[in-house]
Amino acid sequence: MTAGRLNGKIALVTGASRGIGFQLARQLAAEGAHVVAVARTVGGLEELDDLIRKAGGTSTLVPLDLTDMGGIDRLGAAIHQRWGRLDVLVANAGMLGVLSPIGHIEAKLFEKTLAVNVTSTWRLIRSVDPLLRASDAGRAIVVSSGAAHSARAFWGLYSATKAATEAIARSWASETENTALRINVVNPGATRTAMRALAMPGENPDSLPKPAEVAARILPLALADVTETGRLFDVRENRFLSYRAPE
Ligand code: NAP
Repeated sequence: MTAGRLNGKIALVTGASRGIGFQLARQLAAEGAHVVAVARTVGGLEELDDLIRKAGGTSTLVPLDLTDMGGIDRLGAAIHQRWGRLDVLVANAGMLGVLSPIGHIEAKLFEKTLAVNVTSTWRLIRSVDPLLRASDAGRAIVVSSGAAHSARAFWGLYSATKAATEAIARSWASETENTALRINVVNPGATRTAMRALAMPGENPDSLPKPAEVAARILPLALADVTETGRLFDVRENRFLSYRAPE
């Protein structure tokens, strides 16, 4: 493998079985990182592993349902045991839940969407925070959505989970400001994936950027030269946006 910008680094990517996470995992591996790829769908993870190997990279597959909080704890412990540190975290896995009037959402689905989008992200952060601090240039990328900043009809559940996730990521960034760890939130924008097709069934997918294109814009946030922390990176605009200052 030729020299990459992430040679020797360990990168954990959730939601690596398809979509944005799949492509980001590929690209991190192509830059030389050993990718720890998490998702439930073994077929998707194996396809990822094949592509990574063919390109001369390496990965470790972790079939895991992120609602298994004990599993997330064990994953952190396993990374600690094997490498003693983590260099890159990409908290990307997510689900839409349902687009529905607030009063019509089923309690079970509400709880599951919160578990996958919010609780598992917090649990993962809790599990790997010491490992990222042990890296000389720990980088965390938390994948959010424009929905975190809007209050569109029927999007309440998904929006609430993304707003909560951003708040957690930003607080974590404030807590770690004086360390080498850099933590940023990403809004990928509309992307040609299964989740987008579920949200917008009438839309022509060809009108949307491919996940590989979106991943290529996110990847630089994993590099050692990142100085920003606690910022929101907008993929479409390809730049950091400012959060509004508290009043
Ligand atoms: P996607 O193609 O549906 O992929 C979602 C990924 O999350 C899959 O790999 C899925 O793996 C994983 N996942 C879902 N539930 C899981 C669970 N319980 N346990 C483990 N893994 C789970 O979606 P995507 O569009 O690439 O979305 C990636 C991220 O971007 C999400 O956070 C999403 O909210 C955000 N986003 C997407 C768009 C867009 O237009 N696509 C826009 C804004 C934000 P398994 O099913 O194999 O477990």
